[in-house]
This record gives sequence, C-alpha cells and structure tokens, in this order.
Amino acid sequence: IAELRDVTKRFGSLVAVSKMNLSIRSGEFLSFLGPSGCGKTTALRMLAGFETPSAGQVLIGNENVSDLEPYRRPVNMVFQSYALFPHMTVEQNIAYGLEQQRPKLPKPEIMDRVLRVLETVRLGDFGRRRTWEMSGGQQQRVALARAIVNEPKLLLLDEPLAALDRKLRKEMQIELQDIQRQLGITFILVTHDQEEALSLSDRICVMRAGEIVQVGSPQELYDHPVTRYVADFVGTSN
Ligand code: ATP
Repeated sequence: IAELRDVTKRFGSLVAVSKMNLSIRSGEFLSFLGPSGCGKTTALRMLAGFETPSAGQVLIGNENVSDLEPYRRPVNMVFQSYALFPHMTVEQNIAYGLEQQRPKLPKPEIMDRVLRVLETVRLGDFGRRRTWEMSGGQQQRVALARAIVNEPKLLLLDEPLAALDRKLRKEMQIELQDIQRQLGITFILVTHDQEEALSLSDRICVMRAGEIVQVGSPQELYDHPVTRYVADFVGTSN
C-alpha cells in the first residue's frame, strides 16, 4: 500500500533518516519503535507528505505522495497533541475535514457519517460538546474519529496515547486495535514504548539513529533479534 525507497531526510547537516527502505502491507498494524530522535516522526511525516525526502521516494499505491494534492492523499494523521479546534463542537471538528475534502457531499450524508464514526469511538452522546470541556482520552477519541471519518487507506499515529495516564492508555490501546480490525485501515504508529508496540503491532520496525535495525513481527523480534539493541528493546535480554 505504501513504500519508502532508499529515503533519506536531512535537516541542514543533520541526517534524520538515512536510506530507509520499507514496504507497508495493506491492512497491517505497523509500529516505528525507537528512542527519541531516531527519526520515527520524520519517517511518518514523509509518509503523510508533510516533509519531502532529500533523496529517494515515498510511494502511496504507485504514486509519489508529493505528487498528490493534499486532499487527494488517502492518508490521515493523528497527533499526540490532538490538534482539535477548541471553539467547535465535536461534530463540527469531525465534519470539518470531510467538508473540505468532499465539498459536494450533501449535509445529511456528512452528518450521518459523523454520527456513525462517533459510535465507533464510543462517543455517541458527545457530538454537541465543545472539545475543551472533554477529558484527554475523550479528546483523543475525537481526533481519531476525525481521522477515520473519510475512510483513509492509511492512518498515521504519532505517539497518540503519550499524554494519557497509564490506565487510560491501556484502554485506548485496546480500542485502537479494535477500530483497526473493524475498519481494515492500515495503521502506522510511532512510539517509544516497547510494550505498546509489542501488544498492538503485526510488525515492528525498530529504528536507531535514522536507520532501520530490524523489521519483523513481535515474535520474530523476540525469537531472533539481530542485535543486542533489538533484544534490549523487546525485552529478551532482561
Ligand atoms: P521523538 O520521539 O522525540 O519525536 P523521533 O524518533 O520521532 O523522536 P524525529 O522527530 O524524527 O525523531 O527527529 C529526528 C532528528 O531530526 C532529531 O535529531 C531532530 O532534532 C531532527 N529534526 C526533526 N525535525 C526537524 C526539523 N524540522 N528541523 C530540524 N531538525 C529536525
């Protein structure tokens, strides 16, 4: 569904991502796992088309993501900070992107989709609320609803649960997995939390200093870590 081909990203003299090659499979839950500064977010932002690679290609389907107009990209992103509009209601927040992307879609159809997606994220009764009066977990659900309402092929999640407390994070992890399975959307999650990556992912891409160290299922990484670094990350060396 998407591919990074020999992708490098430099910021001045700093190499944030170096010659990264990765093929993303349709319908999978993939995590980028690694410590702060290893290039996870940069890789994700290139997949979203927010950053252009210094070298190499980022393909969605068979097209260069930078050749597609922003509203034509079958990709959405969820941010750690939620990035909701505080003055709008939950319904308006969710409808906004859909209205921009599909201006000809009739209002009732938009409303129908908004209400359906609110049920999916278990916020059926919250449509008329303003987002500033909601808890962190609820706001993250609104952000998620907004990102899936137009049924993207690929959903990019940048540490979406990092701001939540431990208990809520666990709950939201289960919900994320349920939603992913229910909708069949390909999810790519950036996280530095190995437990989160191990419990959610079909495959994990372990990164270090801008490079991929190993890609594999949690079981493969656990059974055959290629380096001590991977073993440390998946916990086999403890
Ligand atoms: P974190 O979990 O802390 O976000 P990360 O693994 O996602 O870390 P990136 O955010 O991709 O890492 O950053 C990789 C490197 O690129 C870091 O050294 C960072 O300082 C640098 N970097 C990222 N974005 C920019 C930018 N817009 N301008 C300059 N340097 C940048």
